[in-house]
Amino acid sequence: MKILVINCGSSSLKYQLLNMEDENLMASGLVERIGIAGSVITHKTESGEKIVKEVEMKDHKEALNQVLAAITDEKTGAVKSLDEIKAIGHRVVHAGEKYSASVLIDDDVIAALEECVPLAPLHNPPNLIGIRAMRELLPAIPNVAVFDTAFHQTMPKEAFIYPLPYEYYEKHKIRRYGFHGTSHRYVSERAAKVLGKDLKDLKIISCHLGNGASLAAIDGGKSVDTSMGFTPLEGLAMGTRSGIIDPAIVGFLMENESLSSQEVDNVLNKKSGVLGVSGVSSDFRDIEGAAKEGNERAQLALDVFRRRVKKYIAAYAAVMGGVDAIIFTAGLGENSPHDRAEIVKGLEFMGVKIDAEKNNVRGKDTVVSADDSKVDILVIPTNEELMIAKDTLSLLS
Ligand code: ADP
Repeated sequence: MKILVINCGSSSLKYQLLNMEDENLMASGLVERIGIAGSVITHKTESGEKIVKEVEMKDHKEALNQVLAAITDEKTGAVKSLDEIKAIGHRVVHAGEKYSASVLIDDDVIAALEECVPLAPLHNPPNLIGIRAMRELLPAIPNVAVFDTAFHQTMPKEAFIYPLPYEYYEKHKIRRYGFHGTSHRYVSERAAKVLGKDLKDLKIISCHLGNGASLAAIDGGKSVDTSMGFTPLEGLAMGTRSGIIDPAIVGFLMENESLSSQEVDNVLNKKSGVLGVSGVSSDFRDIEGAAKEGNERAQLALDVFRRRVKKYIAAYAAVMGGVDAIIFTAGLGENSPHDRAEIVKGLEFMGVKIDAEKNNVRGKDTVVSADDSKVDILVIPTNEELMIAKDTLSLLS
């Protein structure tokens, strides 16, 4: 059973073709500059060979046509015919309060996702374009939507209601939604398997630390709290995002820097986080390099970032009345032993103790806590595409 996974952005799209018999990645790729001069598709074969093709792609439909051509290419493709693809799984960012699990797409689902566009104006429209284009290109093949927000729909009301006038929740649906749900779900299920325990018996704190970063408190397999909120701006300090700040700073900046609300939004989303503090880069590797060379602001940015992750870990342990496992995932979480060690330093009082030798690992499922640690600490590489393909498969049957 072969499943195509599509992640459509505004001018780019990523894809993966998975064989679900053995969960093998048969092909993957990236289309960039859709609708802009110089559009290009980079296709990667199962053996890792890269084929780069510059070809004009005016819109997502043309881009997806190129994807289908790349997958079925006689020499470098992965399948002989498109008939071999049984379904398409789409990553969709926002499902509002409408869906708490993945769904088979029909006209009603598309209408519901249209309604969620005001909640994710940058992300849902390209996701919808991708869905519509695939329905046109391959009308006989079912499409499934897998949402970033769905996993967090189990949060209790006291976790998702903001202390604002309640009418804003009723009128505008302003509440915490949370994101990275597919990743938090994947790594928590995987961690339970690695530990040989039942997910239902575990209190897990999942730390997805990439360019965008969030934590989730997962009790018995259900998300009970998460650090991202109404938008993916809340919570941790990120590559370029501020995360939590005193909300009064927004008005202060508008007044004193003569910024419009959109300009402040731009500062908080694109010029803040570790980039803003360090002035070096949004990439953690660059910042760590600069810090090693003695750049104090680079070091400060790392300290601000790590401190906040630590605070959330302790807060989520309190919310769940304990913690059995802490998971590190995504770019930094999977690949930076030093950051993992710095983040959990000082949490020994909670029974959290990392093993320096075991922690010297990158990008593979590993338990990195010390033998006498009360809490298991794990590195679990995330795989959102596999999770999307799994959901797609299970909705077909
Ligand atoms: P996203 O999917 O949100 O764009 P990723 O999960 O790919 O992000 O994570 C990207 C981040 O991970 C970058 O800031 C990068 O510097 C960081 N990262 C990757 N490898 C390492 C490493 N070895 N040490 C520190 N940071 C790393």
